[in-house]
Amino acid sequence: MALKVRELLKLAHKKNTAIIAFECIDYNMVYAIAVASQKTGIPAIVMVEPATCIDKNDCHPTAFSGIFKGVAEQIDAPIALHLDHCYDFSYILNTMKNGFGSVMYDGSKLSLEENIKNTKKVVEAARVFDCDVEAEIGHVGMANAEDNQNIDFYTKPETAKYFCEETGISSLAIAIGSAHGMYKKTPQLDLERLEQINAATDTPLVLHGGSGIPNEQLELAFKKGINKFNVGTEYFQVYYAAISEFCEKYKIVDHYSKTPLHVLDLPKYTQNKLIDYLVKKLQLTKL
Ligand SMILES: [Zn+2]
Repeated sequence: MALKVRELLKLAHKKNTAIIAFECIDYNMVYAIAVASQKTGIPAIVMVEPATCIDKNDCHPTAFSGIFKGVAEQIDAPIALHLDHCYDFSYILNTMKNGFGSVMYDGSKLSLEENIKNTKKVVEAARVFDCDVEAEIGHVGMANAEDNQNIDFYTKPETAKYFCEETGISSLAIAIGSAHGMYKKTPQLDLERLEQINAATDTPLVLHGGSGIPNEQLELAFKKGINKFNVGTEYFQVYYAAISEFCEKYKIVDHYSKTPLHVLDLPKYTQNKLIDYLVKKLQLTKL
């Protein structure tokens, strides 16, 4: 069953926890989320990032929303669709017209005033389509550049308050010591800052860069105001490992390796591996 991201975040807020949003590129990754949600009864968010669609042609947002809709209709557990990091207004507009109930406009590299101006424009357009808007201040950078340790990028509580009041966004991505990709050293979230940001605004807070943050820190972050938690790299790793495992496994079976048809068994194989990972990961939310 497809729900709005705002409805899931409301539920997370009420239960003092977060909904996990997983980055996807294809049907297998979306389908696995739906099955894991159904098995556990725990809601989840399906995300796609324009960068992978544009640069790598992994998918297309319109096709992706069709996949999501078809999969969501098959299950009772609630899942929601979200467009991750988008920098382009017309791209966002197009996805809102084509089935995305939630988008992220990322102006975190711009000046605060420019970020506010652009975010407001997205929020106004989103009203027409009854769509949710996530935005970001401070800047969640890249783990391989150790941006998570750069305090200059961190979100300031008073700026968070001002930004949310000015823009009317549905959720706010904050920088408190996480970053995208794989960390070189175990990250340390600034939980005190999170508490201050949470006290300064009622807007649901989002934590990006979720691959490699220890569970104990995540559980605390969820309790202290994070209502949406993004996981990308880790989910891709599980997918890649499953594909590698499949190829390795069938390389040695003669009758199989001589026919290209064994690719037909690849989706089911990887889906099952993804489902195993997701069922465990979703427990983290305690929903
Ligand atoms: Zn992100």
